[in-house]
Amino acid sequence: MRYLSTRGHADRKRFCEILLEGLAPDGGLYLPEHYPQVDAAGLQRLRAAYGNGRPGGYAALAFEILSLYIDDIPAADLRALCERTYTEAVFGSAAIVPLKRLEDGFYLEALSNGPTLAFKDMAMQLLGNLFEYELGRRGAELNILGATSGDTGSAAEHAMKGKRGVRVFMLSPHGRMSPFQQAQMFSLMDPNIHNIAIEGVFDDCQDIVKAVSNDLAFKREHKIGTVNSINWARLLAQVVYYFAGYFQATQHDSEKVSFTVPSGNFGNVCAGHVARQMGLPIDRLVVATNENDVLDEFFRTGVYRVRGSADTHETSSPSMDISKASNFERFVFDLVGRDAARCKALFHDALSRDGRFDLSADAAFVGAASTYGFLSGKSTHADRLATIRDVSQRFGVVIDTHTADGVKVAREHRSAGVPMVVLETALPIKFAETIVEALGREPERPAAFAGIEALPKRVQVMRADAAQVKAYIAGHCG
Ligand SMILES: *Cc1c(COP(=O)(O)O)cnc(C)c1O
Repeated sequence: MRYLSTRGHADRKRFCEILLEGLAPDGGLYLPEHYPQVDAAGLQRLRAAYGNGRPGGYAALAFEILSLYIDDIPAADLRALCERTYTEAVFGSAAIVPLKRLEDGFYLEALSNGPTLAFKDMAMQLLGNLFEYELGRRGAELNILGATSGDTGSAAEHAMKGKRGVRVFMLSPHGRMSPFQQAQMFSLMDPNIHNIAIEGVFDDCQDIVKAVSNDLAFKREHKIGTVNSINWARLLAQVVYYFAGYFQATQHDSEKVSFTVPSGNFGNVCAGHVARQMGLPIDRLVVATNENDVLDEFFRTGVYRVRGSADTHETSSPSMDISKASNFERFVFDLVGRDAARCKALFHDALSRDGRFDLSADAAFVGAASTYGFLSGKSTHADRLATIRDVSQRFGVVIDTHTADGVKVAREHRSAGVPMVVLETALPIKFAETIVEALGREPERPAAFAGIEALPKRVQVMRADAAQVKAYIAGHCG
């Protein structure tokens, strides 16, 4: 399998070459040259591999799917990496992603029982093991630099802690994460994890990451890399749980299932698109957004309009607070018939000129709902509170704010006879303040997280100054 860029760069690369890279050299995103097809016999084999959540079943399923896309890691090694990653000890159950029934035909798929209680662990835990493996093979090192407002940073740190050849330098806005999120990151004592709290907001952190990454000499000398959501390996890891969700919701491979996905950067739901393109019988892929409705607007109108920071709302589902959806280009590349020149004209030329593009008159867009199954909807703070209350009263289940956006939108798109699976993207304890607002009580806290706010913390506080951050990295990366 070779990988191409959505903007047409001539090189075709293999999996391990793009594993440690971010964007393609032309600014595009990497995608496989084609989606491997899973036919009826293949689907039956994958169902048997998962074995309805038997111990080791998820790792076996992950290996089967990953090996369709990865041909530069020996099969025995890839299988061992999957087995080391997807364990009951790390994810809390043999099924890894158990389906929770709310009512007939309506389910939550639990993706949030990993070390940091959000779905990002599903991919990041694999990435940690893949990075360690590949860097070891090359005898190389990597210094990961990132900015986080919460979920991504802690998932990355918990995946990379103690890994050979990798260091993490994670910037976060000083005093702006919840005490729980701060504890998740700052209590890590592993010497390869560096928390840097910046006196500023998230955008200041991101600006510093950009400034450092734009200094190509510094970047090369200090082997700076990233783990953001455009990484193809992260997306690929997420494809696996669409299969696992499908197998749990159905008895036979002739049945269809719809998924609703709380979305921000379009990484999670893009993995669903890939699964559907491979032949998994997905009926609808429903994109749920919060007040930051860039994606809902596109699927309703055909207009993709990037927001400025003044138009980006701070909401109670903060991990979906985005101004543009960084993985969206992958879907549009497929939508326009994999025409890289067209994709570049939209994402490079039109977005930098007008901040928007309009596909409403395009035959591909008009047919997108039926060809690709996409539907969408939006949820607000009031919807979130009402949904958390309703799901708690009706089913006795407390859901987090992002999952609530998913449930709210999923209910608008159910169709008779087709099971609807909502991806549960975080546990409520991460967003306790809003749960208290909705229910008047604190959400349940998994035992392993009792009292984490009181643990000793390891964090450097710095001014919003790229030079100071660079000096810190240079002093701690060798
Ligand atoms: C990251 C995140 C999302 C958004 O996922 P995307 O892949 O960016 O669309 C939704 N919910 C939670 C809890 C997250 O951490």
